Amino acid sequence: MWGIIATWRMAKEGIEKAEDILKNQGNAGDAIEIAIKEVEDFPYYKSVGFGGLPNEEMEVELDAAYMNGDTLSVGAVAAIKDFANPISIARKLSHEKVNNILVGEGAEKYASQAGFERKNMLTDRAKIHYYNRQKEMLEDIVPYDGHDTVGMVCLDSFGKMTVATSTSGLFMKKKGRVGDSPIIGSGFYVDSQIGGASATGLGEDLMKGCISYEIVRLMEEGMHPQQACEKAVFHLDHQLKQRRGHAGDLSVIAMNKNGQWGVATNIEGFSFVVCLPHQKPTVYLVTQQDGHCHYHEASKQWLDEYMQTRMAPLKRK
Ligand code: ASP
Repeated sequence: MWGIIATWRMAKEGIEKAEDILKNQGNAGDAIEIAIKEVEDFPYYKSVGFGGLPNEEMEVELDAAYMNGDTLSVGAVAAIKDFANPISIARKLSHEKVNNILVGEGAEKYASQAGFERKNMLTDRAKIHYYNRQKEMLEDIVPYDGHDTVGMVCLDSFGKMTVATSTSGLFMKKKGRVGDSPIIGSGFYVDSQIGGASATGLGEDLMKGCISYEIVRLMEEGMHPQQACEKAVFHLDHQLKQRRGHAGDLSVIAMNKNGQWGVATNIEGFSFVVCLPHQKPTVYLVTQQDGHCHYHEASKQWLDEYMQTRMAPLKRK
């Protein structure tokens, strides 16, 4: 058995690359890194890697993490600038004995010494989004809060599991802001003896429930990944609403050691991608009703429109 599941439609091309590796007995570490790199490299995805939207100072600060479910090793970078593939830096950090999570300048120094490719990650298109957003904020329009982390859980045919995340975090965030994505237990967690999970949405709220660890813990108690995802999301959503009056966006994906998977969300419009030996990479859309989530395959029209919107010409307002 092998399998891979990822947040958002944008993961599809990466998942196709991972499929090639996994069906040829490749390992879950290589498959997930290659899949995430594909998303980081694509300039039209504005929430991950190259082309990611900048912080309020118009700098692209990226967060990424990698975890090995056999050894529980973790590597992560936060608020790193000017490197092409934060995921590869995170994976390398997971091999270090200590200093596994590095931020800002320290992360950049490590990456530079390790020979990782430097790249200006701010594209002209992202600048237009920045200026437009600045203008909207002046006009007091509630602006699109553009975010979406790519998070993946992977199982290879040897039973090894990995999880990885990569994101530019919240658009217009404060310089130095760190979300859930590079934080173990919140944005991601995996244990090859149980399963793994990853989250996307409002980092500040996802962290309050250590949601990825919680899902793995529920799976350990015997829950199916679908049940575990729904329980974790709706419990946290409820707690946040009860204690704070509102809950931010919470969306999760999970897979267990047998390749069974699950998803949950408290928003409309969450999409995800799954690939298994008997299932080509498939994009699904999630809807929620009465504390349960349902999903259906994305139509050809939805998929076409998705790409057209992403790549449509963008004008400065
Ligand atoms: N969770 C990410 C963050 O808060 C953003 C997202 O997944 O949409 O940084």
